[in-house]
Amino acid sequence: MRRFALLTLLTVGAVRLAAAREPSTPHVVLGIHGGLGPDRNEVSPAAERQSRADLEAALRAGYAVLQRPGGTSLDAVEAAIRVLEDSPLFNAGKGAVFTSDGRNELDASIMEGKTLRAGAVAGVTTVKNPITAARAVMDQTKHVLLIGPAADGFAKSAGLQIVEPAYFRTEERWQQHLKAVEKARQSPQGADRHDARAGHSWGTVGAVALDKMGNLAAGTSTGGTSEKRPGRVGDSPIIGAGTYADNASCAVSATGQGEFFIRYSVAHDIAALMKYKGKTVAAAAEEVILDKLKPVGGEGGVIALDAQGNLTAPYNSGGMFRGSITADGQVRIRLFDE
Ligand code: ASP
Repeated sequence: MRRFALLTLLTVGAVRLAAAREPSTPHVVLGIHGGLGPDRNEVSPAAERQSRADLEAALRAGYAVLQRPGGTSLDAVEAAIRVLEDSPLFNAGKGAVFTSDGRNELDASIMEGKTLRAGAVAGVTTVKNPITAARAVMDQTKHVLLIGPAADGFAKSAGLQIVEPAYFRTEERWQQHLKAVEKARQSPQGADRHDARAGHSWGTVGAVALDKMGNLAAGTSTGGTSEKRPGRVGDSPIIGAGTYADNASCAVSATGQGEFFIRYSVAHDIAALMKYKGKTVAAAAEEVILDKLKPVGGEGGVIALDAQGNLTAPYNSGGMFRGSITADGQVRIRLFDE
């Protein structure tokens, strides 16, 4: 396609939006995020290398789908997110954070921009790839969101891969959990306040894609916020909050403090600003992340892709792991404020 002909880069501008309102990156067919990142000095060189490798593998998996004849953005989003769910480094699938009672409860959603069809699961504990369970809800039921053991049961009956809950556990996350438990024991009254203000954990994953038919799709998968109460559901499986896709505007996947993203209907608000106010994807995403969420303390960011392939990735705190691939196969990955 002509509009994808130019070789482009995921510019530094796209990642410094908090400081400078730079234009979005054009010609993108797939964008991904790996959640709010830690500071550079908190990441070992080995973890940095592996994070980059896994983000690239996710981009390549999604891109391969888009290159197939008839390859859809929906399939690309699912393929990319599955790679990140299988990586122990991200807070999704294997490597998810723990609830306050030491379990992994996973949320995911997916949406198709052409039809506004969507599927989601929340609080699942045994389906290996929650994004595929979300997709199955979309494809095989008349519903949008299934929760808890019934959602796991549905995934099993749909033939999806089921694992023991212990599959999701990694030693690093478990140690983080034990530290948090100790902290909560020392100041029990602070536990909920901590969860609301600073309880997010980096590593939620998401993808947005545009296929050759011009269709957008978005998806998000997470273990939620660390030390969340059992049964807590964040924005990631909520259509319009953590995930949204509409060919008439954009595809969005969010990461951050889910309670804010739910209250501010973040993903849908970005789409609505484009649709009803004629804003560009970059202007719409910046308005929501920087002007609306930041002043009220709602930490987080989004990746948002419009139907012309313009990707923007604003975030309002720390850094956000993110990457993109353009129509010509150029991969760009940014972990920090680079
Ligand atoms: N948004 C996710 C949630 O609130 C967490 C995150 O993105 O870090 O469940």
